Amino acid sequence: MNLNMDSFDQLGLPSFLVDTIEKLGYKEPTEVQAKAIPKALEGSNIIGLSQTGTGKTAAFLLPIISNLSNGRSKARMPRSLVLCPTRELAAQVMENFENYSKNTRLTSALLIGGVSFKDQDKKLDRGVDIIIATPGRLLDQFERGKLMLTGVEFLAIDEADKMLDMGFIPDITRILESLPSVKQKILFSATIGKEIENLIAKFIKKAFKVEIAPSASITKNVNQILLSIEGFEAKKENKKDFLIRFLRHEKSLVNAIIFCNRKKEVSYLSSLLRKNKLIAGEIHGDLDQKARMEMVKNFKDGHLKYLVASDVAARGLDIPNVSHVINFDVPLNPEDYVHRIGRTGRAGNNGTAITIVQEKDRALISNIEGLINEKIQPPNKGWLNSIAKTSNKNKKITAVKAQPQDIAQNQLPDFLFTKF
Ligand code: AMP
Repeated sequence: MNLNMDSFDQLGLPSFLVDTIEKLGYKEPTEVQAKAIPKALEGSNIIGLSQTGTGKTAAFLLPIISNLSNGRSKARMPRSLVLCPTRELAAQVMENFENYSKNTRLTSALLIGGVSFKDQDKKLDRGVDIIIATPGRLLDQFERGKLMLTGVEFLAIDEADKMLDMGFIPDITRILESLPSVKQKILFSATIGKEIENLIAKFIKKAFKVEIAPSASITKNVNQILLSIEGFEAKKENKKDFLIRFLRHEKSLVNAIIFCNRKKEVSYLSSLLRKNKLIAGEIHGDLDQKARMEMVKNFKDGHLKYLVASDVAARGLDIPNVSHVINFDVPLNPEDYVHRIGRTGRAGNNGTAITIVQEKDRALISNIEGLINEKIQPPNKGWLNSIAKTSNKNKKITAVKAQPQDIAQNQLPDFLFTKF
């Protein structure tokens, strides 16, 4: 993360917010915060080009909290709205909001799919200052008459490029057209292509632009390693057995997110790890929202050492202190590589991203290297030799049958702790 030399009290934030932030242990604003917060406090619209891991969430939440602290909420008429592409990201932004708004009486509601309408309805009826939502659920509530958007003064759109990937631009457009009193709009995106450009041209005129160099913010603290397992395969070890051996023996590994390209593989691999006494959870599109959030919480709290994940389910996850990202499969889309490895080396910590490669992956690797504009290096010989010396012989590997039809039953993580 790029830290900036300014301190938080120079950004123009009210002192109660500076206190809260200091108590959270943030010593200085990140680059995106130092650039965006003073302008946002002046009331400017903001377009931010910045990835997750750069501190962008605080860059839009802190000015919103500062603005909201003058004024009161009315029933069904929120004063501010934050839109996120995925439920996970929305839940995470809510978690940040709760941390930052500790010394305020601001009220909030998380409107995401997969969670019952009842609790959401109750909160909306009482009146909330801020709504953090995915576009689909927000529109559902709007159409059910549970929510009026006429009072929204502050709007933030997070990860606009993901909104585009997930087909949400028509929803976003509808929402933007339903906000008559909005005074300030903030949009964050890792990349800005033509469609986002059009959206900005139509709805966010006169904005202050903040740009944070993507590769610098990702690779600086991340040691990227390309681990070819051809040598091990030549000795009849398959990729899964290799992974288990690696996880059993690698000393620097505290915890890891392990990425697979397909959700069936995610589920299969995490069962295999559990069968082999490696404490793994899983997140993929077939798990309901509650289960995904519970998995992430267990991983964050250290109850799970490994989290096997698919790209969409992991998008936007903010889990500080992940020591390793392991690409069990090389991502098909080079941008996913950048997102995956951005899960480690966050908030000033160091991280390691290991990509396991086979001969067939060469073309994918060169696409990735083209995008990030650097060559991913093989590990140093000493480290590779030390891995080569380890063996699964003392602890044999227990196989599992792939039972993708059982995925939906794996909803809650209690089985993770009871069936070892
Ligand atoms: P984000 O890019 O918003 O997903 O933030 C990435 C991580 O950095 C989160 O865990 C934040 O809590 C953390 N963070 C945000 N701002 C700061 C800061 N100024 N100093 C230290 N950590 C921060």
